[in-house]
Amino acid sequence: VISLEEALHRIDATVRVLPPVLRPLDQALGTTLAESVACDADSPPHDMALVDGYALCAVDAQSLDGRLRVIEEVVAGETPRLTVAAGVATRIMTGAPVPPGADAVVMVEQASSVDGPWVRLANREVKVGQNILRRGTLAARGSCAVAQGTELRPVELALLAQVGRSRVLVHPFPRVGVLVTGSELVPVDDVPAAGKIRNSNGPMLAALVRRAGGEADSLGIAGDEAELLRHAIEPALEADILVLSGGVSAGVKDLVPAVLESMGIRPVFHRVRLRPGKPVLCGVMEDGDRQVVVFGLPGNPVSSYVCFELFVRHAMRRMAGFPARPPERVRAQLTAPLSHRGETVAFLPARIDESTWPPLAEILAWHGSADLPSLSRANGLVELPAGERRFVAGDDVAVLRL
Ligand code: AMP
Ligand code: MG
Repeated sequence: VISLEEALHRIDATVRVLPPVLRPLDQALGTTLAESVACDADSPPHDMALVDGYALCAVDAQSLDGRLRVIEEVVAGETPRLTVAAGVATRIMTGAPVPPGADAVVMVEQASSVDGPWVRLANREVKVGQNILRRGTLAARGSCAVAQGTELRPVELALLAQVGRSRVLVHPFPRVGVLVTGSELVPVDDVPAAGKIRNSNGPMLAALVRRAGGEADSLGIAGDEAELLRHAIEPALEADILVLSGGVSAGVKDLVPAVLESMGIRPVFHRVRLRPGKPVLCGVMEDGDRQVVVFGLPGNPVSSYVCFELFVRHAMRRMAGFPARPPERVRAQLTAPLSHRGETVAFLPARIDESTWPPLAEILAWHGSADLPSLSRANGLVELPAGERRFVAGDDVAVLRL
């Protein structure tokens, strides 16, 4: 039996990042970049007007009477042909290249056109460089546009597009097989006979996989017989991660650990000082460059849920190239006193109210790790460290958001 930290540490030490794949930008959102991408040109590529107005020479505005002759009009996408000299200006639109000779742009709102090609400046205080973004100010050609390892958000997709990359190398999210085990389980559409229950973990775990960014493959139900399990697990090892539910505790029909071991899956850990979820198991099979990480989650729905969020999601993120970081917690204050005693860290379903500061955490009544209705009312799990402690209302606790 190991600590939660040690279990996460072993996952970090075991799980390898998936090899990069080339993806079009519209399929790259949320992935991490597997290469560093450089700017193919200066940005902006030319001295650029930041406003609609008049490009001119700043000293002119002060020395002359503020009247300038407009010699040309340049819109974004065009190149100016004429040089701006004393007494003249070019009508210019946002984004257009600043003509040679000009060193400032006066906003159109600060100029009024007078008869014919003449324009008069309302304000003759014009500064050199005003309303111009100099070539290369945002990024120089050859500099890094987006660094390897960066999570691609919409803004990074824009940066990649700006430097001409319609496809980029990214680490894909893993394909995750979900196989539930238990001879008591029947498919969701069946009416359970005496002693049987419906498979609720299957849909839940597949949804957790998808919510974490992965591709879920639902592999059905396997009964609690070594042969049946082996038969169902064998083809499931095609995935990057295989999630099993049930059969990892100490019952006579908890055969998953032995079956996995007989199939050559190396144990990474089995049993973590954690409630709910203590029997959780992790193993790995390596075949050259290929790796399959197997998780055996306890079958109790709340245990399965908590272990997925703590361990499977962590492994998925590692495979997808995200930095090793423990699952994120927020802080909240308990709304009621609470005594906690135990050798394990405990996660309790709670209602978190984040409309106040600090947020409040109301621990919900619950009947243990089969209590899905209580988990459904919860929007967080309060984490209580191992040991004996009396909490009073207002005490600060860590919360895992659901
Ligand atoms: P196990 O971990 O196999 O000992 O199962 C613990 C409890 O979870 C038992 O009450 C099981 O019936 C229940 N359980 C196991 N698998 C599922 C599942 N896929 N859906 C709903 N409940 C399950
Ligand atoms: Mg079972």
